[in-house]
Amino acid sequence: MTKKFNQPLGGNDMPRFGGPSSMMRLPVQANAVGLDACFVGVPLDIGTSNRSGTRHGPRQIRAESCMLRPYNMATGAAPFDRLRVADIGDVAINTFDLKKTIDIITDAYRGILAQGCIPLTLGGDHTLTYPILRAMAERHGPVALIHVDAHSDTNDEMFGEKIAHGTPFRRAFDDGLLDNTRVFQIGLRGTGYSPDDFNWGRKQGWTVVQAEDCWGKSLRPLMADIRAKIGDRPTYLTYDIDSLDPAFAPGTGTVEIGGLTVWQALEIVRGCAGLNLVGCDLVEVSPPYDTSGNTALVGANLLYEMLCVLPGVGTPKG
Ligand code: MN
Ligand code: MN
Repeated sequence: MTKKFNQPLGGNDMPRFGGPSSMMRLPVQANAVGLDACFVGVPLDIGTSNRSGTRHGPRQIRAESCMLRPYNMATGAAPFDRLRVADIGDVAINTFDLKKTIDIITDAYRGILAQGCIPLTLGGDHTLTYPILRAMAERHGPVALIHVDAHSDTNDEMFGEKIAHGTPFRRAFDDGLLDNTRVFQIGLRGTGYSPDDFNWGRKQGWTVVQAEDCWGKSLRPLMADIRAKIGDRPTYLTYDIDSLDPAFAPGTGTVEIGGLTVWQALEIVRGCAGLNLVGCDLVEVSPPYDTSGNTALVGANLLYEMLCVLPGVGTPKG
């Protein structure tokens, strides 16, 4: 049977360890023209504060995505039957200049959004979400935000700098890019500088769900509550892989114990079905610390799950 849209290269057409290393072995094209959704890499790690290496994240996520098959057995989603999807490669950041790089990223996402295409971003360190949100807000106005992370990433400065991977949501707030009554941070934990570290967002009207409030629970009720609060407003999903416990995702730069499980991550992403998602990212995979490849493998799967809940795929069951 001939399919209407791009399909991932199947394991019976080319061994899964062979062929070009695109995301899910999808066709590669140079830009977002004609696409409903795209995978795009941002090979950035010059915003990191501790262990680096996320510049290698997009390439490793693509490599570990080679096992992914097109049909979602849990939810019934068949995204490649409903959406035109391709891998549009990486944003050509300036790896010697972070401030220039954030402008390069915003420009690149303006181009993607101008095509009516939804970007699914392979990071890269978390700095990249700020310039993406600038492009999102230009197009959609202030967006609702679902931010899954061990950290709040709301520092005003890091080492005196306004742009770093611990500041993107503070900058997004400063620039008015967020719908502050509809910002949800999930999975925050670990040691801090003061008890107020996680309260800054709460003071702006954000909902902060610390990791301890997730332990041992299904997160389906939380996601139902979030969906009810967001409604049909444009929503951006940003997923820091360090939200997961290091048992599941050790290959990242700023590791915190006591994190979310992989099945909670799936509940969060699948719980976004029905939202008006305008973009998603998966950040902070650091291959040099990912000796088994498992962190990148989890990242690749979560990016696929994000694709499965985009508008137009249909609301999956469960
Ligand atoms: Mn982060
Ligand atoms: Mn983090």
